[in-house]
Amino acid sequence: KNIVIAIDGYSSCGKSTTAKAVAAELGYAYIDTGAMYRGVTLYLLEHNIDFEDLPRVEEALHQLHITFKRNRRTGRNELCLDGVIREDDIRQMRISNSVSEVSVIPAVRHAMVRQQQRMGRKRGVVMDGRDIGTTVFPDAEVKVFMTADVHTRAVRRQMELAVKGENVPLDDIIHNLQKRDHIDSTRAESPLRRAADAVLLDTSHITIDEQVDFVLERVSS
Ligand code: C5P
Repeated sequence: KNIVIAIDGYSSCGKSTTAKAVAAELGYAYIDTGAMYRGVTLYLLEHNIDFEDLPRVEEALHQLHITFKRNRRTGRNELCLDGVIREDDIRQMRISNSVSEVSVIPAVRHAMVRQQQRMGRKRGVVMDGRDIGTTVFPDAEVKVFMTADVHTRAVRRQMELAVKGENVPLDDIIHNLQKRDHIDSTRAESPLRRAADAVLLDTSHITIDEQVDFVLERVSS
């Protein structure tokens, strides 16, 4: 049976770290849906398309190709836009600062959700995002909703960015996380919320191993 594990939650709670490790443990595919919204954002910015210009946004959605390519060295799936790996570009603050405004656009969500549904049912999959357990796979076998206090999340995000050479003040990161969480959870189209049947996981005071074990226990039970 092709099990779907849906991991949703606020920005920078450790969703992707957990999802990646769970997928590796089970031999499942891992799909980072946030990377897809980031890819659309990068495309619109690079083509100078105003997010409010709906006809041009829709045209862009027909034209752009979002795919994942497995990096053999790291074993990670890297986001490609029109066949070119753009993993580093989509993680930059300029994308984080605009991505939530792009992901409120219903046409963007419909295109991404459709692609995610196509990718998801081929084999066992761990998918992380904001609306996986509510909209993309409401019938997912395992649903986890992750949260953590904003300070913990910001410190983690700051370290991730620093490793890539981008030094961002903590206050800027806190502001970005709070702004995204607000836009993500108040938008009209599939807002970020815990599915009624999702188990809550607060990662403020636990280790990555504990997060991974928590999810794995849900799979075997
Ligand atoms: O997961 P990540 O922080 O990279 O996601 C970036 C943004 O993409 C989120 O803040 C949200 O606006 C959007 N997103 C979404 N639905 C998803 C995944 C991400 O709207 N399933």
